[in-house]
Amino acid sequence: MSFDGTPALEASLIAAIRSVVGESAMPVQLHEPTFRGKEWDYLKDCLDSTFVSSVGAYVDRFETMLAAATGADFAIAAANGTSALQVALMLAGVETGSEVLMPALTFVGTANAVSHANAIPHFVDSEMTSLGVDAQKLAHYLDRIAERRDGGLFNKTTGRRIAALLPVHIFGLPYDIDALRTLADQYGIALVEDIAEALGSTYRGRGIAAETRFGAISFNGNKIITTGGGGAILTNDPEIAKRAKRLTTTAKLPHPWAFEHDEVAFNLRLPNLNAALGCAQLEQLDSFLGAKRWIAAAYRDAFAKIAGAEFIDEPAYGRSNFWLNAVLLDKPDMALRNRVLDATHAAKLMTRPIWTLMHRLPMYEACPRDNLDVADAIEARVISLPSSSHLADRQ
Ligand SMILES: *Cc1c(COP(=O)(O)O)cnc(C)c1O
Repeated sequence: MSFDGTPALEASLIAAIRSVVGESAMPVQLHEPTFRGKEWDYLKDCLDSTFVSSVGAYVDRFETMLAAATGADFAIAAANGTSALQVALMLAGVETGSEVLMPALTFVGTANAVSHANAIPHFVDSEMTSLGVDAQKLAHYLDRIAERRDGGLFNKTTGRRIAALLPVHIFGLPYDIDALRTLADQYGIALVEDIAEALGSTYRGRGIAAETRFGAISFNGNKIITTGGGGAILTNDPEIAKRAKRLTTTAKLPHPWAFEHDEVAFNLRLPNLNAALGCAQLEQLDSFLGAKRWIAAAYRDAFAKIAGAEFIDEPAYGRSNFWLNAVLLDKPDMALRNRVLDATHAAKLMTRPIWTLMHRLPMYEACPRDNLDVADAIEARVISLPSSSHLADRQ
């Protein structure tokens, strides 16, 4: 115990976090956006021009900048990340009643996108280093439970087609893309990528979406850049890019004045106002990435000096954007984890747990799943740390 009655582990964690965030503005939030670029100018420009809605130059500009920032050949802006992911799944051929392999350890939006595409989430386990899907464990699992027939992969128990694998770059840490793409190819299923948290991350020296055929990203208020709300579909295939644009913009046939539409499509276009905010934010991406890297280094140093928790670092094959920094407690112990969350909150440090695993949420508890031991352990060990870019102002 320390002098004020806080148990030793909690006290040393609080001291380590304080050494990074400083003492000034309490409480220290988990993640806040930073607006220090041309946000006001671009928003005013939208209002002055009256182009606030579904038509305007900022959308095109945002898409071009986004493709460059992710390494994708094409970016198609959308109303939010969940819907962008739903459309990416549909474009990948995920049909009604099929199954999509995805981690139980992710934000609920990943599973909701699968459900909105009328498919069934099928939960698989994660690995400790990147917190991403464990490719080896998944291969062993598929060898047991799936069979190749009729040109597809089928779940032997449910009889349903397994249409896709949907991995997630957790907190911006890149998963091993090559390993998962090889696996998807071997089993004849589509690879659809949840890149929501990984803007600015890299894999083997290239942009995170450089090899992505079906991917989605998010610009919700808590992500590394924000458009208020928003997302995009990312692809390196020009035909898929064209389909994505049509499906997200009511499938209107090009014509100077006629209203002709030739399929049931969505209205998911990102408004020009949001895209304007996004352009101003993307102009600052390099500075945000630098700030995040400084904050990560500070946490790495601070946690190297204490017992009981280790900093989650980027894997050797890539760079994390360090969107959200986190530590792993030494032992998977939910009661201890919850005490750490309570103690840090009492100290006005707004830490968070990782998400409740998907198969424990009531709407997903009946979904098929592999053994989830590693995801369970991660859930009981992760503490997410305050990570707003402005915390690097002290450097
Ligand atoms: C934020 C997020 C989403 C959903 O994005 P929205 O823009 O909030 O709809 C999906 N998956 C992951 C992993 C996310 O972090």
